[in-house]
Amino acid sequence: MKEKILIVEDEKRLAELHRDYLQQSGYTTEWLEDGLKVIPWVKEHAPVLILLDLMLPGKDGLEICKEIRSFSNVPIIMVTARVEEIDRLLGLELGADDYICKPFSPREVVARVKTVLRRSSPQTQDESQQLLTLDEDSYQAILQGLKLDLTAVEFKLLSILAQKPGRIYSRDQLMDRLYSDQRIVCDRTIDSHIKKLRKKIAIAAPEFEVIHSIYGVGYKYERL
Ligand code: CA
Repeated sequence: MKEKILIVEDEKRLAELHRDYLQQSGYTTEWLEDGLKVIPWVKEHAPVLILLDLMLPGKDGLEICKEIRSFSNVPIIMVTARVEEIDRLLGLELGADDYICKPFSPREVVARVKTVLRRSSPQTQDESQQLLTLDEDSYQAILQGLKLDLTAVEFKLLSILAQKPGRIYSRDQLMDRLYSDQRIVCDRTIDSHIKKLRKKIAIAAPEFEVIHSIYGVGYKYERL
């Protein structure tokens, strides 16, 4: 059976663009333009992934995403009109798996869909866990058999990011999580800690580029 992707989009032209490119890549698609129809459809058809526009008639993407998360972990890619919106959405912790900003290239959408689907499969998670081991008690990180010499802050950052591969964290979110751990005392420059962490990873395993910065938004851990 082909994997069915649900496209929720009220602009017909965009929906058709998504549909054409996804179908060319071997997926089947369904298109809904009315926000109110989404939840019942998802409950009945169990799509493998949802491309969810933020601004919709009937019910907006925010509400839909929250509702879906109350009963399903189906991967959701949110589509927004403004890049500044992504920061706000991240702050709401909706549980979306990725964010795409309009205007987008249809090829990029297909690439993102593939990445999200790949990492939501259990196999990929096992694979990445074997490559990186984190021992929270001793602050020890082992990458492909090599011990990384990390500071407590770097260890904590790596562990926050690596626990949810692909999830994007804003600097504020990383800050909040670092400070919620009483053992960590640090200054407020996330960027410089990330920079040092990446350098240490690059030295231990040059091909293992896992910490990615998302311009204007924050950071994520992902093996691409
Ligand atoms: Ca819209």
